[in-house]
Amino acid sequence: MLAAAAATTAFRGGASPHCPALVLNADHRPLSYYPLSLWSWQDTIKAVFLERVTILEEYDRVVRSARFEMRLPSVVSLKTYIRPARRPAFTRFNVFLRDEFECQYCGDPKDLTFDHIIPRSRGGRTTWENIVTACSPCNLTKGGRMPNQAKMHPRIKPHQPTVIELREHGRKFPPNYLHESWADYLYWDSELEP
Ligand SMILES: [Zn+2]
Repeated sequence: MLAAAAATTAFRGGASPHCPALVLNADHRPLSYYPLSLWSWQDTIKAVFLERVTILEEYDRVVRSARFEMRLPSVVSLKTYIRPARRPAFTRFNVFLRDEFECQYCGDPKDLTFDHIIPRSRGGRTTWENIVTACSPCNLTKGGRMPNQAKMHPRIKPHQPTVIELREHGRKFPPNYLHESWADYLYWDSELEP
């Protein structure tokens, strides 16, 4: 009943605010960094009433209904630990993230696409080991040639990254929106580095 009440709660005098909650695992680490694990305030309040999460931090914004009043959670943690995936998904975004959004031939961060190191026309496959981030000009220059023919070799030997590696790379590219209450949970350990 409370959950239903929460779902129909409206803000007095205005549109719904953009107040997403950062969602942490039971060990207080973010469920994911890229994309950052965020829930809408509506989903967050439902989870609070279903007793699936613990509220760690709050916004100043208050949500009210006839039955209750509460400050919107800005950081919540799951009560049940979810085991993180061991291997990152082989996605376009994760390839860019592994290569830190730089062309692996010239270092250009703009106009990025993908290059098959061993061209597909020569049997090269679409795998972590054979795909690198490349800018369009380098991709065109290399064309269908082998690395030795083109004298173009990736800066870093491409490999399947670990979740930890992608997380470290991801910290260098923070999302556009970060609420101040999230900082401790996202970056505190990186700030301890000398
Ligand atoms: Zn390039």
